[in-house]
Amino acid sequence: MPKVFNWQIGREMEYLYDEARPEKQFAMIMDTNKCIACQTCTVACKTTWTSGRGQEYMFWNNVETKPYGYYPLGWDVKILDRMGVQDIEGDIYQGKTVFEAAPDGERVLGYLPEDLDYANPNVSEDDSAGIMTQGAHITMPHMQWMHYLPRICNHCTYPACVGACPRQSAYKRKEDGIVLIDQQRCRGYRECVRGCPYKKPFFNAITRTSEKCVGCYPAVESGRQTQCTMTCIGKIRLQGFISQPSKARDDNPIDYLVHMTKVAKPLYPQLGLEPNVYYIPPIHVPSPYLKQLFGSKVDLAVSAYRKAPDDKKLLGALLLFGSTPMIIHHFKVNDAFAIGFDEKGNELARVPFREPIFLRTAFDEKHQTYRSNMT
Ligand code: SF4
Ligand code: SF4
Repeated sequence: MPKVFNWQIGREMEYLYDEARPEKQFAMIMDTNKCIACQTCTVACKTTWTSGRGQEYMFWNNVETKPYGYYPLGWDVKILDRMGVQDIEGDIYQGKTVFEAAPDGERVLGYLPEDLDYANPNVSEDDSAGIMTQGAHITMPHMQWMHYLPRICNHCTYPACVGACPRQSAYKRKEDGIVLIDQQRCRGYRECVRGCPYKKPFFNAITRTSEKCVGCYPAVESGRQTQCTMTCIGKIRLQGFISQPSKARDDNPIDYLVHMTKVAKPLYPQLGLEPNVYYIPPIHVPSPYLKQLFGSKVDLAVSAYRKAPDDKKLLGALLLFGSTPMIIHHFKVNDAFAIGFDEKGNELARVPFREPIFLRTAFDEKHQTYRSNMT
């Protein structure tokens, strides 16, 4: 197999095809500390893309409660179990990726979920881990924890779906790195479903083809962010483009959060796909669990994030989440505002560091009524 460089695991690895990075790489950052699991993103995606026949069970965007929530059932536990021991400490991943661990005669180490694995899209919602002793709910820090994990296709740099497809129906676009499945070429072998460790391609039993998140490419082509990003109630998402580490620009908010401040981390980098959805880790969750999810440097991400109130540039980048429907290519901060710009330098968003406060009299003269917070 050809050797390619995967910066997330710090080394070369085997992949099915030669390294061919796109001109621009679609990327998204999600701040898990702000997600409230309202599922607005899920519904926005569903009504936009998967309301047809055969798509009923598809959730190109879903939101899980970790550690016990999954869709499909047990997706991450099942692939991590098959991979065996993973040495994730240090800068260089010492274990095998899903490509290197592929059994003889197979392209990728994977598995095909059972139909029943898709029966409960929001299984274990709000189930927490940890010990609940008497009175524990009023003591700090709490012993129990859980967090929400919104998931879409990662539009990986080394997609397992592309590597696994025997017909080259799954492909990665040169212009923006979005990964698509050509519906004309696809014969429904489900090798992409088997191969993707994130289980983000879905088989459509009516059309007999596999389908997946399309990265809202018509929106992205016209400079807009994806539906799940624009509709997010918690403003937890920022979608744009990421550079390779050596070409990172500190005025690109995605580069700044992933490469400079390193507060945003890929999900399960040890799988070896170089996924392009990044997560700001939940700061209340035990470190060993976070390491397995987001890699060995996750503690540094958490401590950097905790310092955001004292770091204007970092805070500014975070404030631009959910501030505009358009893709922010550049940003800057001044004393009062974080400001986002499009590719040509036009201003898209201006977010104040301090929300203005308006004091109003208790009695409204115009409407001849008292104002009250009570409802
Ligand atoms: S819309 Fe935003 S806050 Fe709501 S579940 Fe989705 S990611 Fe979380
Ligand atoms: S997350 Fe899965 S479906 Fe998406 S690009 Fe990566 S391998 Fe393919």
